[in-house]
Amino acid sequence: MSHNPVFIPGPTNIPDRIRKACDIATVDHRSARFARIFGPAVEGVRQVLRSETAEVILFPATGTAGWEAAVQNTLSPGDTVLAARHGMFSHRWIDLCRRHGLDVIQIDAPWGEGVPVEAFEARLAEDRGGRIRAVLVTHNETATGVRSDVAAVRRALDRTGHGALLLVDGVSSIGSMEFRMDDWGVDIAVTGSQKGFMLPPGLAILGVSAKALRATETARLPRTFLDFADMRASCARGGYPYTPAVGLINGLAEACAIIAEEGLGNVIARHHRIAEGVRRAVAAWGLRPCALRPELFSDTVTAVVVPEGFDGTKVATLAAEKYDVALGVGLGEVAGKVFRLGHLGMLTEVMMLAGLATAEMAMADLGFPVRLGSGVAAAQDYYRGAKEAARLAAE
Ligand SMILES: *Cc1c(COP(=O)(O)O)cnc(C)c1O
Repeated sequence: MSHNPVFIPGPTNIPDRIRKACDIATVDHRSARFARIFGPAVEGVRQVLRSETAEVILFPATGTAGWEAAVQNTLSPGDTVLAARHGMFSHRWIDLCRRHGLDVIQIDAPWGEGVPVEAFEARLAEDRGGRIRAVLVTHNETATGVRSDVAAVRRALDRTGHGALLLVDGVSSIGSMEFRMDDWGVDIAVTGSQKGFMLPPGLAILGVSAKALRATETARLPRTFLDFADMRASCARGGYPYTPAVGLINGLAEACAIIAEEGLGNVIARHHRIAEGVRRAVAAWGLRPCALRPELFSDTVTAVVVPEGFDGTKVATLAAEKYDVALGVGLGEVAGKVFRLGHLGMLTEVMMLAGLATAEMAMADLGFPVRLGSGVAAAQDYYRGAKEAARLAAE
């Protein structure tokens, strides 16, 4: 078995402390012991979301079910939602809405762009009758390595005086990049256990605002397993509407403790440093990220555009087969055109250098015009200074 870290944007590397916390003997979920595990996990998630009041809901599922829960619990058949399609994950969320019989106002943006806030604002301003019930934002488009400006979408809603719900996919940003549920007026924040929370897959993690909870009272889309009301009623009695993933929830409490020990601000700063080193490496290779402008650069994943005539998928395949290292492939419209370096969760600068070195070897093996060591050296140069600056700032 390989001990190499993975460099994919989820599932991420799992700290030993979390693996141990997940591995517990059977707990009766109708016992007080379950409540003692559940409480700290929920409180920890609230802190990571930077929310005072969000209702935290945990489903034994994944991020995709988090989208589904957000939609089913707040909307009715035929409702209109506003969404941008600018990568595989935003695309899939739109598809999910259509399959639920929603009317999606889809704004297409190039893959590499963020959420087109001005186009959103124009649509919201036109919508005097309040037909749009929800605005969907993929905070961090994992397919392209693009961060969108959720706060700007909130300002667009406020400026137009629009009352639509703001539903945000933060699956690859929450716990790793700045995410401010309360300040940004996010109504539902969605993530999964296997990304910034560094857990195995298996939990959909949601933060739900009071406004979104009110919307559930009139929302008529069918739901059973993912029903917020059933979940809240059971949790209020210290239980669960079905069997919870107790081991994962115990791991989640540990993950939140680990994040709190490092300090959420430090975690976010570490992700930024590691990502910036990756970007220096990409530039040194003579390549560019798929994200079109610096303000769009994600701090958790970089999609590297490969030179014309080369296949990005082969970089990841070769890295896996020859070096036993997982890199990400391109998805959807950018399949073959990029490979992805995931840099989130349990990761250090030193680990990242190994990922960059592996990408260089794989590219060299495939005949890319990239000089071995060039990206690693650029990242090393950056990390030397950035680590020193971080050390001084901490003193
Ligand atoms: C990973 C990911 C998802 C899907 O999550 P699953 O846990 O695989 O269902 C959704 N959105 C984004 C942005 C992601 O990165």
